[in-house]
Amino acid sequence: MFDRASVVTPGGVNSPVRAFRAVGGTPRFMVSGTGPYLTDADGREYVDLVCSWGPMILGHSHPEVIAAVQEAVSRGTSFGTPGEGEVALAEEIVARIEPVEQVRLVSSGTEATMSAIRLARGFTGRSKVVKFAGCYHGHVDALLAAAGSGLATFGLPDTPGVTGATARDTVVLPYNDLDAVRAAFAAHPGEIACVITEASPGNMGVVPPADGFNAGLKELCAADGALYISDEVMTGFRTSKAGWYGLDGVSPDLMTFGKVMGGGFPAAAFGGRADVMAHLAPAGPVYQAGTLSGNPVATAAGLAQLRLLDDAAYAKIDAVSAELRSLVGDAFTKEGVAHTVSSASNMFSVFFTDEPVRNYDDAKKQEAFRFTAFFHSMLEQGVYLPPSAFESWFVSTAHDERAVERIAAALPAAARAASEATA
Ligand code: PLP
Repeated sequence: MFDRASVVTPGGVNSPVRAFRAVGGTPRFMVSGTGPYLTDADGREYVDLVCSWGPMILGHSHPEVIAAVQEAVSRGTSFGTPGEGEVALAEEIVARIEPVEQVRLVSSGTEATMSAIRLARGFTGRSKVVKFAGCYHGHVDALLAAAGSGLATFGLPDTPGVTGATARDTVVLPYNDLDAVRAAFAAHPGEIACVITEASPGNMGVVPPADGFNAGLKELCAADGALYISDEVMTGFRTSKAGWYGLDGVSPDLMTFGKVMGGGFPAAAFGGRADVMAHLAPAGPVYQAGTLSGNPVATAAGLAQLRLLDDAAYAKIDAVSAELRSLVGDAFTKEGVAHTVSSASNMFSVFFTDEPVRNYDDAKKQEAFRFTAFFHSMLEQGVYLPPSAFESWFVSTAHDERAVERIAAALPAAARAASEATA
């Protein structure tokens, strides 16, 4: 299948990190998923710790989500008109996340961040955007500078195709460094439209914000008249019922969402202050649109998934995550492998270093070659990890004792492989 794919698709994949370039080997082609398991084209079953990079928070093929999708499909797949499903999904988002007074639905996280930045520029009449090294916000031209994961993995700090003019308006700063943000505002007074940050980064591995970092960003933005944009595409509806906002309580001016809110379908959103959102077409002058935005099947899936995500569901995901973190840490300790299990709520990843990791430079200092050996041993033993040392691992409500036991059984040999690996 990979040979066939490589003939008709660049690199054989439709999103780079799926290609296993960081770890070597042939990507697995999955044919089905049930609960915490994926089955590949050769009939091998894996415990899935990628969960489609976050969306499958209830596991694969959850019966209530599938039923909602089937019911929606039976009524037609796209109308190009307003529909009730998109209103209900928007109401659910607004009800859960206080700073979101109004929301616009789109089809991908990239579209959400691209549109939020355009809106911030349109609202403020300013050009510059501040982002942090190691934070990924999708493949928006202006944000493809020092963008973590995929780019970290492939060593492309800058991508050809993004013009100097586009990059000139992007200011890239080290993460968790408020002094650097202060200095940027001092250097460009009245020119910065927005600061965009992952609410808690998961695209350089998991690197949570230091205490007071997000609150400091909000304060510095407010003092200068810039907007504070919190990208919750990854953390939204995952790290708590109200995402990262539900944990740190810092109110952004704009927020972006994706992944979990689509229930495994292409649905994403951006939203926030009503006075800012009022600048969006057709209410205001900032243009933004989409043929499939608010698609009835995608919104049915997303709504079904969100309605199942109650306090008990988050308690379960948090507990499974804590258990796995402890098993993983113990396995490495036993083999004498220098490591840090870094977590933010139920998101976590392993850095192969025992030095603190507070930003992208720290993350890159890890012994990533150990991850390659660890990854392949886990894969051989039927555990599917993200194929890069710079990605978050994801769990779901479907990760039960049996799934955890299978991971636990695979860890000793994989930790040994990591300890024996050479650069
Ligand atoms: N923002 C963050 C924080 C993400 O993690 C991602 C994707 O991984 C995106 C934006 C882009 O989302 P999408 O891949 O749906 O375009």
